[in-house]
Amino acid sequence: MKKVCVFCGSSAGNGESYKSMAKEMGSVITNNNMGLVYGGASIGVMGTMADEVLEADGEVWGVMPKSLVDWEVAHPKLTKFEVVDSMHTRKQLMYDWSDAFVAMPGGFGTLDELCEILTWAQLKYHQKPCFLLNFNGFFDNLVKHFEHINKEGFLSDEHLGLITVVDTFEELEKSLKSCLV
Ligand code: AMP
Repeated sequence: MKKVCVFCGSSAGNGESYKSMAKEMGSVITNNNMGLVYGGASIGVMGTMADEVLEADGEVWGVMPKSLVDWEVAHPKLTKFEVVDSMHTRKQLMYDWSDAFVAMPGGFGTLDELCEILTWAQLKYHQKPCFLLNFNGFFDNLVKHFEHINKEGFLSDEHLGLITVVDTFEELEKSLKSCLV
């Protein structure tokens, strides 16, 4: 089973649209017989997405450092759940388990994971596809900033091309299906 790692908010965001987004991401995964890898929390956009996959009898793998488990945010019903010693080990495992990466709206943690997975692609530590779901234009400014970095000579065209920006779930689903055959 191909697995998609999703980076997204540990907060719920303002308004109902982010909840719908989280559920739709869960449906894209289960409708295409894929498994979900994520940060393992029961809270925020992350938790809603995991619940949606689990409700459809899908597979969800999560990993957390002990410190976060102690904060009692771990999801209690995951298919596979590992507790590790640090954020570094946790991210390494999430990246190793997955066949593709998707970033959705979130905060610093989401940006950290997105930039890290792109940096690792840049360094050729992996060759797995990376997508940015620009849900309702949430990432417009970030996409502009990536282009600015490229224009100013700090990011090559080749490396800018490591991230595929998609605006809709239809586009995301089509892209995931074609690269994870
Ligand atoms: P943020 O975007 O700052 O809410 O952080 C969310 C991202 O960072 C997720 O993709 C997680 O992998 C990780 N993360 C941050 N906070 C938590 C948390 N309380 N529980 C689990 N993962 C978290």
